[in-house]
Amino acid sequence: MKNSSSADPCDKTGLWIKEIHKDKVALSFKIEKTLFSERSQFQQVDVVQTAGHGVMLLNDGIVQLSERDEFVYHEMIAHVPLFVHPSPKQVLVIGGGDGGTVREVLKHQSVDRVVMVEIDEIVVQACRRHLPSVSCALDDPRLELRIEDGVKFVNDTNERFDVVIVDSSDPIGPSEPLFDQPFYERVAAILADDGIMITQAESPFYDHDIQHLMLMNQRPFFKKLHLYLFGNITYPGGFWSFGYASKGICPLKDFDSARVEKADLATRYYNIGIHRAAFMLPTFVKENLAGVIDPVIKSLRDFI
Ligand code: SAM
Repeated sequence: MKNSSSADPCDKTGLWIKEIHKDKVALSFKIEKTLFSERSQFQQVDVVQTAGHGVMLLNDGIVQLSERDEFVYHEMIAHVPLFVHPSPKQVLVIGGGDGGTVREVLKHQSVDRVVMVEIDEIVVQACRRHLPSVSCALDDPRLELRIEDGVKFVNDTNERFDVVIVDSSDPIGPSEPLFDQPFYERVAAILADDGIMITQAESPFYDHDIQHLMLMNQRPFFKKLHLYLFGNITYPGGFWSFGYASKGICPLKDFDSARVEKADLATRYYNIGIHRAAFMLPTFVKENLAGVIDPVIKSLRDFI
């Protein structure tokens, strides 16, 4: 990582944490103090006070979020599907133990019920204690918080959902099956006919192999597959993506921007223009995923 300071930037002093991605790239953050550090049954959970990004959550040394920029990730994972679905009432969130995704989902008045299924209670406890601005909606009466494996939940439930959001960490350990075909088959089965599934889809620069496999695993069960992009300053490469899968609803043609205006939600990143622009993919991303994702527009006239 480039560092303009002449002082030794590395973690020898214990004041810098370093996330190493694929043994090729490192992201480093100056920390002021450790607020929480515990090994759960599933992973090492750390919450640190950073010098430049506020409080930060790391699972197994991998940055999950920082107070400074988490709004981008959480607004984009929630508002894109909730403003495309015509009337989202029942929402399922898998993972997302920090609470940021449900905070955004619950801003939608049409939502009657959210089920959030997080495997690791320690993540929830750490975020309740040290990240109140993120976890603030975890006691909302419309939310049912379940501590269990998301794979088990989708296998066992008889409920149907309008929107399913898979807010998972990278496909390592308990998150791995959340990228596999049997999981997507079950999600498709519990989604309403006009339902939408959003998945955390990694870096277009570093992880296009994972993206490709993830989308191929979704393909048999969803008519429409797209990828959309946003910036994330605390993830490797700074450029990140979500997968959009539906049985027919298009994220642009079925997007009614008047609903965004009418709802007038307090957002800092998401807006009508960003919603549309996020689905415009750079050529290299289209090439990497050729034949796997669907074209989202044929011409700019589709926007009008
Ligand atoms: N924004 C984050 C990112 O991409 O780094 C993801 C945030 S959230 C903290 C991810 C959560 O998914 C973790 O707390 C983890 O415990 C949870 N998780 C992993 N596997 C899971 C599973 N099989 N079922 C439910 N939750 C799971």
